[in-house]
Amino acid sequence: MTITTHAAIGAVIGFSVGNPVAGFIIGMCSHFLVDMIPHGDSNLAKKFRIQKKKRGAVTFTTIDAVIAIYVILGVSNLPIPTSDVALSAAIAGSIMPDLVIGLHDLTKSKYLKWFVKLHFFFHDFFSKKYGDIKLGYAIIGQAVIVVLLLNLI
Ligand SMILES: [Zn+2]
Repeated sequence: MTITTHAAIGAVIGFSVGNPVAGFIIGMCSHFLVDMIPHGDSNLAKKFRIQKKKRGAVTFTTIDAVIAIYVILGVSNLPIPTSDVALSAAIAGSIMPDLVIGLHDLTKSKYLKWFVKLHFFFHDFFSKKYGDIKLGYAIIGQAVIVVLLLNLI
């Protein structure tokens, strides 16, 4: 899923749970579970990881990250009473797995390899068996989900 989608899910978890530790853990677990849904990034990942064509993946991720920041800024400025720490922790937990993947891509650290395997076990669980959906459909679907989630807050 996009960072924006993970962040929106983390925000809803943070508002719902209200506890930073629980929010972080539930947010991180949500990342793995939500990533199981085929979400159109298989071709982008293949071009990045196998064909070493980085431009598309870097552009997509940069735009996604900036939109995620806007969503987080918007959510954190809502006039709703909640624990800011719980909100931040749940969002941090929900996007953290992709940070670890990026750190591994950058460092190739052997200490992160187990986490990468765990992440892609979930990420590829259904898309490897049944195929992926088109990226455009996935982006539209995720945009709708983000709007719906933000309306829950
Ligand atoms: Zn992920």
